[in-house]
Amino acid sequence: MKKSIAKFLVLIVLSIIIFGFNQQSDPINKPEYVIVIHGGAGNASNNDINEEQQKEYLEKLNEALTIGEEILKNGGTCIEAIEKTINYMEDCPLFNAGKGAVFTNEGYNELDASIMQGWDLNAGAVAGVRDIKNPISAAIKVMTNSKHVLLSGKGASEFAGKQNIEIVDSTYFFIESKWKSLQNALNSEKHGTVGCVVLDKYGNLAAGTSTGGMTNKKYGRIGDSPIIGAGTYANNNTCAVSATGHGEFFIRYTVAHDISALMEYKNLSLTEASNVVINEKLVKAGGAGGIIAVDKNGNISMTFNTNLMFRAFAKSSGEKDVAIFK
Ligand code: ASP
Repeated sequence: MKKSIAKFLVLIVLSIIIFGFNQQSDPINKPEYVIVIHGGAGNASNNDINEEQQKEYLEKLNEALTIGEEILKNGGTCIEAIEKTINYMEDCPLFNAGKGAVFTNEGYNELDASIMQGWDLNAGAVAGVRDIKNPISAAIKVMTNSKHVLLSGKGASEFAGKQNIEIVDSTYFFIESKWKSLQNALNSEKHGTVGCVVLDKYGNLAAGTSTGGMTNKKYGRIGDSPIIGAGTYANNNTCAVSATGHGEFFIRYTVAHDISALMEYKNLSLTEASNVVINEKLVKAGGAGGIIAVDKNGNISMTFNTNLMFRAFAKSSGEKDVAIFK
């Protein structure tokens, strides 16, 4: 009798250890694919974005997510999924990327984007471009078809044109509401950058980010989004990260790489590492924003220290969510 009670207790303890404490996916329970996206972070409250607008954001996030998910389900790669998902968000005026990019102080739209793949640490980026319709596609060409990582301004456009990336007239980016928000820069919301991180069927991680930067930016200012290690980072040994927020802080704190480094050198989980960087280090420094990330076992993080981050995720297991506020 005593023996069977002891056996029973051992079984209970074992199952708690295996199933209870281990909420995180391990290599064995790794989902086939995972995709996480963001559409920017900000401090607007529930009252600042009316119900109709919230519905529209949720719908567009869901559509973007579905594009990437379909690609992954059908055996597409992480880079294909990121490109098409971000292209959709770049073409949607709702987000501060591509078509919906905010205006600079001088009344232009200057776009930044970057991509990184985790298996060979190859990366590509464009910064300060004024006429590339889909900057993430240009960033991918920089990664795959050039010897460089980051191209800027006119040179980036010239390269992109030669790579058959669509070049548009600058009037393409004119959107009345974004123009008004430049005129009224103090009241403008700064969120809207887009990002996508993926773990694909082949066990590869990648991250991409695309933005119009910050409203009213001056002097050719470049934020974190096209900076590898700051706004974007991916490493198959750890995780893939895409950031959004006050770029100057994300550059100084090398946010995306710091999360990966904490996992690599300190053995932190993705959740712990994201918390340390976003909710401790950045909060202490006064840097507002957030990240989306996926680790090599398919665990995800959507961590932000602002009121909201437009975000969504889907896993091959069927888990899915689209959300705005905390
Ligand atoms: N991080 C972007 C930048 O500083 C802006 C944003 O994510 O809202 O350019």
